[in-house]
Amino acid sequence: MNTNKIEKMDVKSGNRFAILDTLRKKGAMSRKEISQEIGLTPAAVTNLTSELIEEGIIREVAEVDENRVGRKSILIDIDHKSYILIGVYIDITGIELTATYLDGELIVRQKKPLKDIAYHENVTEKIAKECKEFISDNITLKRNEEKIVYIGLSIVGAVDEESGLSKGSFGILPQGEEIKANLERKLRLPVAVENNVRALAMAEIDFNNEEYIENALFIKHGPGVGSAIIINRNIYRGSTNVAGEIGHIYVKDNDKECICGKKGCLETVIGESYIIDECKKVFSIENTNYLYNLCHANKDFINLHNILLAAENGDKQIKAILDDALKYLAIAIDNTLQLIDVEEVILFGLAFQNNYFHKTFKKHLEDINSNRRYNIEYSNLNVDQEYKGCSAIASRSFLRMIS
Ligand SMILES: [Zn+2]
Repeated sequence: MNTNKIEKMDVKSGNRFAILDTLRKKGAMSRKEISQEIGLTPAAVTNLTSELIEEGIIREVAEVDENRVGRKSILIDIDHKSYILIGVYIDITGIELTATYLDGELIVRQKKPLKDIAYHENVTEKIAKECKEFISDNITLKRNEEKIVYIGLSIVGAVDEESGLSKGSFGILPQGEEIKANLERKLRLPVAVENNVRALAMAEIDFNNEEYIENALFIKHGPGVGSAIIINRNIYRGSTNVAGEIGHIYVKDNDKECICGKKGCLETVIGESYIIDECKKVFSIENTNYLYNLCHANKDFINLHNILLAAENGDKQIKAILDDALKYLAIAIDNTLQLIDVEEVILFGLAFQNNYFHKTFKKHLEDINSNRRYNIEYSNLNVDQEYKGCSAIASRSFLRMIS
């Protein structure tokens, strides 16, 4: 019967994926370590790794002493540099195209303003055209075109990663745009699509060489507040794919309508544009002396960077605005952790790198809960490394595809 054959093939694919996934998570390992890690017999691991070496997916990388009697063991790893991923990162400021290897190492990047691309009916066609030009204009990519295996597209707003439908990217893509299928057709390459914060959370766990993260809450502060729940190194999506939207937790009675349609969301208190609006209201030579001078008496020059500087330099009213906002952020995070009970909260964003901002946030957290069971960590990714999210989703999908 055919079913037997299918089942056998599924088991084999599952085992191949288990090997690749383990190497992706933990880096170079010996066959013996892989066997212990995934619970397959050493003979089965040897067979499958020989096959993967023959296909050029993994390779032997080093020899190490296995034990005291001097037996040598060979380490194997994914041959990251044999494959190239194209990343397409789109937010309200622009589109960034990147090429990286499977492990996220950057080859080349290029950023363009969004106005030429977004808000058009044929936006997917424009993105495809940008990708083609990006590849053909770069000598390294052009020369290694056969190594380009997957495209990772990370975009703001809701995305159904399975069907590849955009469900609202703040107007950048038309609602219901079949971005995955359309791009695949035009570029003749497989495409993985994901929301930008979730993609970034995957990059945090996949490309973090310092720490092995299993379960965490990842939070990105920027124009809004995005977050992703990581359970067993995967994104927890929820029944309707909106799990982890911490920015839309109700925190405060206010009249500010949130982008989600509700009022009083965390985002309307701590989001960058809301903080800027609040600071504009109190902006004067008396109230906000440092900020006033920094902005040459012009409200239009107020941005998050100089707000944080003004707070650090003692502008009381600015400090009060941030203090209030950070109290609600601390409340929302602690409440969330009470429900999901993960080990770590990982914070990403320019503001968290500011001394006043993160100290005040931690103080509020301490006031609410001085016996925390979770750690607060700062992301290992730089704020300009959003492209790593594209690499992470493309790399995961590629390894699944070849298993
Ligand atoms: Zn909201």
